[in-house]
Amino acid sequence: MRRLIYAANWKMHHGPVAARAFVERFNSVVQPADGRDLWFFPPAVSLAATAEAFGARPDVRVGAQNVYWAAKGAFTGECSVALAAEAGARGALVGHSERRHVFGETDAETALKVAALLEGGLTPMLCVGEQLSEREAGHTEAAVRRQLRAALAERTPEQLARLMVAYEPVWAIGTGRNATPADAAAVHRVIRHELAALHAPGDVPVLYGGSVNAGNVLALLAEPELDGVLVGGASLDPDGWAELVGLGG
Ligand code: PEP
Repeated sequence: MRRLIYAANWKMHHGPVAARAFVERFNSVVQPADGRDLWFFPPAVSLAATAEAFGARPDVRVGAQNVYWAAKGAFTGECSVALAAEAGARGALVGHSERRHVFGETDAETALKVAALLEGGLTPMLCVGEQLSEREAGHTEAAVRRQLRAALAERTPEQLARLMVAYEPVWAIGTGRNATPADAAAVHRVIRHELAALHAPGDVPVLYGGSVNAGNVLALLAEPELDGVLVGGASLDPDGWAELVGLGG
């Protein structure tokens, strides 16, 4: 049976009070369903509140939006893998386009974060995707392959079995423009090819992200290459998110 992953990236929204209110409402309208996994990536300050509010709900996992690779020390403002895990995180986004392009995170830093998460027993959701200039120059495939190799080349097949990947074209994030289902599926095939070359198992989930909403999710998920979606804006309202995760299953 096909398993679909619906991942919510709340970005810099929903403090602990709003996060608890979201979970209370969401839990009242969405029950666990076979073949569907839900991930929530709240801001760091809301990790514990979100994880506690979901409790032992079997279909839900909570993750951090970012971690630092060092285990501990004088790194003001950063959050280690162990600290995130203590707050309830089971995984983390790595290399989100806003980390790469707003905060200047490099491929090398992304690799350190993936390694720290895997060594700490958490699931990385590695985000890759080309910028508009790369797409227009015909360099989409090269950009995505480079990001995957840089982040994963040193990881073992056993470690890669615990990975998730999200294909998020930078030009589609928060812009209202999204890749056509066929374009997304074509890049997903490139990602799977590169993952195989890196000796990852064939069942690493590959999600699509970039302006996904209740109006386009069905067409995207009709592509068997997509194992789910990573959603920002359309995940912020509990009723809207409940509607979206109810589609495509
Ligand atoms: C994201 O933040 O990963 C994202 C895909 O955002 P949006 O859905 O708002 O484009």
